[in-house]
Amino acid sequence: MTDCIFCKIIKGEIPAKKVYEDKSVIAIYDINPKAPVHILIIPKKHISSLMEINKGDKNLIGGIILRLKTVAQELGLDKSGYKVVVNNGPGSGQLVFHLHFHLLGGWITKAGGWRV
Ligand code: 5GP
Ligand code: ZN
Repeated sequence: MTDCIFCKIIKGEIPAKKVYEDKSVIAIYDINPKAPVHILIIPKKHISSLMEINKGDKNLIGGIILRLKTVAQELGLDKSGYKVVVNNGPGSGQLVFHLHFHLLGGWITKAGGWRV
């Protein structure tokens, strides 16, 4: 979609700090982080929200969940715990209408203390 910011990032028209990319998914650091570590996992296919997924997207969505796990492991979030958030629709606070999974964590340091 031409006026979609995430489609532009996927096409390389807007820069982003990538943590993972393959033919169907990209993972980037959020530009305005709401946690010490805030990653967005984004399907390359333009789907506006979870309300638009269908049976044909089963592998894509399942792959994103598995990717959330490996990205969390690679960033060390599996040790401290993390949360996954998907906003759906304006009433949820969704601002970018291209499906994305927020991976939020890093509040606990390796030493066990809290990091704000
Ligand atoms: P939403 O509110 O739609 O669930 O979340 C959209 C997220 O995209 C926000 O956390 C926002 O900070 C992030 N975001 C918006 N524009 C950009 C951008 O150009 N680059 C990156 N990396 N993140 C963005
Ligand atoms: Zn898009």
